[in-house]
Amino acid sequence: MKLKVDFHVHTIYSGDSSVTLEAAVQAALEAGLDGLAITDHDSCEALKKLDKFKDAPVLLLPGVEISSSDGHILALGLEKPVPPGLPAKETVEEIKRKGGVAVAAHPLCPFKKSLGEHVLREVRFDAVETLNASTIPVLYSSELKKLSLLAEELGLPQLGGSDSHTPETIGRAYTVVEVEDASVEEIFEAVRKGKTRPEGERIRLQDALNRLGMKLKQKIGRKLGKDLREEF
Ligand SMILES: [Zn+2]
Ligand SMILES: [Zn+2]
Repeated sequence: MKLKVDFHVHTIYSGDSSVTLEAAVQAALEAGLDGLAITDHDSCEALKKLDKFKDAPVLLLPGVEISSSDGHILALGLEKPVPPGLPAKETVEEIKRKGGVAVAAHPLCPFKKSLGEHVLREVRFDAVETLNASTIPVLYSSELKKLSLLAEELGLPQLGGSDSHTPETIGRAYTVVEVEDASVEEIFEAVRKGKTRPEGERIRLQDALNRLGMKLKQKIGRKLGKDLREEF
């Protein structure tokens, strides 16, 4: 059977996301997903709550996004984070030693903390995220072309994920995974074997500009409020 899984979602435990676990399940259902991986920044706090969702209509997969000193790495299947700040090679070795799946997150993307080409060549990842819906393709199209060629050349399984920090974007990009059973272990095994196909879309330039505008407005609003409070 084929399942649609978003392998890259941040929750409120990530420190930079507004997504609760309840909202994640609801948004995944609305997006027609079969599963999603929780990948908070260097935290597995959300995973302690997963028991409550074991009967949810969407599979919630454990994971974490590790800040290695070379860039971000998704560790699927881990329930305890590998310490941040280690080189990519050590981080990946540690993820594999603990039985996790090591995925290069948004590599070559200049606007995020991303692994470079030499790291992808030197370190043996289990898979690479070639479609990250929170990056704007027109702003780094040459890197994206290079990434797709590199993934082919290295024979790495390719994943898609939304990298959501808000519920609305969950499932914007996802991975079609070919499995025998809809179980967490089967899904991870299928990723290792490359039975994956990234699908979906990346963020549109207009959406990104709107989001940036909203953030700026909030920032200015907070600053003005603070200045006024200090004034009076
Ligand atoms: Zn990242
Ligand atoms: Zn992320």
